[in-house]
Amino acid sequence: MSFADLGLSPKLLEAIAAAGYENPTPIQKEAIPPALERRDVLGIAQTGTGKTASFTLPMIERLSKGRAKARMPRSLVLAPTRELAAQVAENFEKYGVNHKLSMALLIGGVSFGDQDAKLTRGVDVLIATPGRLLDHFERGRLLLTGIEVMVVDEADRMLDMGFIPDIEKIFKLTPMTRQTLFFSATMPPEIQRITDQFLHQPTRVEVSKPATTADTITQNIVRIPSKDDKLKRNVLRELLRRDDVKNGIIFCNRKSTVDIVAKSLQKHGFDARPIHGDLAQAFRTETLDKFRNDELQFLVASDVAARGLDIPAVSHVFNFDVPIHSDDYVHRIGRTGRAGRKGATFMLVTPADGKHLDSILKTIGAKEIEELDFSKFFEENPVAERRPRGGKAEKSGKSEKDGKGRRPSRRGRKSDQDEAKNADASQADQPAEASAHDDGDKGQKSSNSNNQRGSSRRRGGESRPSRRREEA
Ligand code: AMP
Repeated sequence: MSFADLGLSPKLLEAIAAAGYENPTPIQKEAIPPALERRDVLGIAQTGTGKTASFTLPMIERLSKGRAKARMPRSLVLAPTRELAAQVAENFEKYGVNHKLSMALLIGGVSFGDQDAKLTRGVDVLIATPGRLLDHFERGRLLLTGIEVMVVDEADRMLDMGFIPDIEKIFKLTPMTRQTLFFSATMPPEIQRITDQFLHQPTRVEVSKPATTADTITQNIVRIPSKDDKLKRNVLRELLRRDDVKNGIIFCNRKSTVDIVAKSLQKHGFDARPIHGDLAQAFRTETLDKFRNDELQFLVASDVAARGLDIPAVSHVFNFDVPIHSDDYVHRIGRTGRAGRKGATFMLVTPADGKHLDSILKTIGAKEIEELDFSKFFEENPVAERRPRGGKAEKSGKSEKDGKGRRPSRRGRKSDQDEAKNADASQADQPAEASAHDDGDKGQKSSNSNNQRGSSRRRGGESRPSRRREEA
């Protein structure tokens, strides 16, 4: 089946051809025809499946007729993060090149005044994070009664971030006659409830998780004998130096860990930058652009910042921390091995991670994971005097082992303190974007945290945040 068979207009087909796409992906094949018929669609799909085009293409088709009125956008796309919202906007630009649609992006970190001026002129497409949209609404700068099509993208992520009450509120501000296109990678009960309430006889389209069975991905774990972040950073550096590592994303569970790991890698001469929700928007955009353009080798990321990012051709994914939710593992490793390319993933596992590892193994099937032997690993990868490939020489040139395979005592480890010094201390006790990731690097301060397994440190591990945490 080709794009032409889906009922799209010649103008759109031209734009698709210019984007270089030959055939629709499964979600596009199934979602575009009902969306063009103005039916509601419930798409169960994650990033990498082509889901963004499956809603932008029919939206452009529908919006090609008619005009926008001041302060009354004709369509609305809600995305959980600024990056995802910006990516949706890029999709509209790419596929809408032959249409004159006006668009506004309402995300945090962008001047309120500029956004407001656009709304005043009238927009066909409004792309927003929920918090920022409601800010505009509550200031009386926006009316949602002209919404013809509403999209909710990555709904399960919105749930993780505590946005569901906002989403319900926004649904209620739009007309009942709207068309709704709703996407989620998973369907937990809260999401099911929302779709039951606000979608009208939707066409349900489900595509399989791309990463779980991708045989182009080789998955590895390295067991670390104690929950010592310094040791983990040491192992991480060895992994990053492997010959086949072209580029990679390093995932951490907490924003504070992201900062520490990125600083540590930079200090050791690696070309790495952090990305998480507390960093300035301009920095995040610049970092992503550099990474996409191959000007940056390593991105150290939190889940929320990275979720949904369209970054082609990542050779490796590193899990510095074992994710609390197995879904996050699937998302993380899904950043590599795309479109038939080979990819490899490495996850550092400490004794405290047992429960979360078990749930990941259950989700993906234990057979798929290779285990690297930690002790052999260091024998085969001597730490001393190594340089990152293509990076600057290490400043200290010192081994973190004392030459006899022992690590120095914590008191003597000044560099560790240096590495952490510049990390934002105020973040140290904050959860990463999802509060469920509340199992972070506090153990770093304990040199013997093995015995903390299963203790109260996992408090709230599976709970949802009640407060809205505005990523945007
Ligand atoms: P998404 O799941 O929307 O984030 O899309 C994942 C990636 O697939 C993006 O890089 C898209 O540009 C790309 N893509 C979307 N549709 C197609 C298609 N029909 N053929 C090839 N690539 C596509």
